[in-house]
Amino acid sequence: MSCARCGRGLTFNELGLNAKYNPQDKKLCIGCLAEWLDVPRVRLEEKIKEFLRIGCAMFAEEH
Ligand SMILES: [Zn+2]
Repeated sequence: MSCARCGRGLTFNELGLNAKYNPQDKKLCIGCLAEWLDVPRVRLEEKIKEFLRIGCAMFAEEH
């Protein structure tokens, strides 16, 4: 699946963020999602870490 705005391929964690914050069918990459939500991108990166810490299965450690 790719970003509905910029066409970039979506990572597992980006799909997780969409599941949490983007109710639309059109999925967005982290950059476009941050713009759409009007929050800084780092805030979403922190959220990924937070969900990882609590063991949410929608997110995985990326290398
Ligand atoms: Zn995008």
